[in-house]
Amino acid sequence: KRTRLIAGNWKMNNDLNEAKDLAQALVAALPEIPEGVEVCICPPTVDLRVVSCKGGVKESPIKLGAQNVYWEASGAYTGETSVAMLKSVPVEYCIIGHSERRDYFKETDEDENKKAKALIAGGIVPIFCCGESLETREAGEHVAFVTAQIKAGLEGVEISSGDQLVIAYEPIWAIGTGKTATADDAQEVCGAIRATLVEIFGQEIADGIRVLYGGSAKPENIAGFLEKEDVDGALVGGASLKADSFAAMVEKA
Ligand code: 13P
Repeated sequence: KRTRLIAGNWKMNNDLNEAKDLAQALVAALPEIPEGVEVCICPPTVDLRVVSCKGGVKESPIKLGAQNVYWEASGAYTGETSVAMLKSVPVEYCIIGHSERRDYFKETDEDENKKAKALIAGGIVPIFCCGESLETREAGEHVAFVTAQIKAGLEGVEISSGDQLVIAYEPIWAIGTGKTATADDAQEVCGAIRATLVEIFGQEIADGIRVLYGGSAKPENIAGFLEKEDVDGALVGGASLKADSFAAMVEKA
């Protein structure tokens, strides 16, 4: 049985003080995490350090993730953050391939592939996002599209255990829209993702990789997603910005 993962993606929200306050409120709201559940929050890069310290999530079971990384080790890459820098915070997870990065910042499958390899080599677990647009879904091509994203993004990626990688299925039309996929929609694609992971990594490793659902996930709908065989948790945007709603989601996991 896979450990569930509830991950909060704060996106570009919260300055240092707000980040510290939210982390503190979350620690207070989640003195204990249910067995078989792991919790991770992904603040903006500039907030990571304060959230990682005492007064933040340090000495709490809440883990830390980043929202982006650059694959080169160091050098003249103005504005970027390396794997080693994230590791030194320390962070355990890093979101890559989010549709907002792909759309607004023109990141490609090739970029995500380099990020995945650099993170795994540096001992940070990628939360690799994939998901189709409304147009692709309406054309009935969502499974083929997501499968292709996984194959391209993970090409040549090597792992020896399923806990080195997390996938998040986030249909673009459900992100921040209040429009959620149904639990059956999520299972259809998450099941296809697992089958693709079996092709790439073999059954045993694929069985250990967590596949999350994301897109307007909230306390009211999380349980339905988690009932599904291939949905192992959630990547939460808006509802992760309020300690009580995020804590409620963890409690329902
Ligand atoms: P919302 O939960 O706000 O729809 O965002 C989902 C998301 O993009 C998480 O990465």
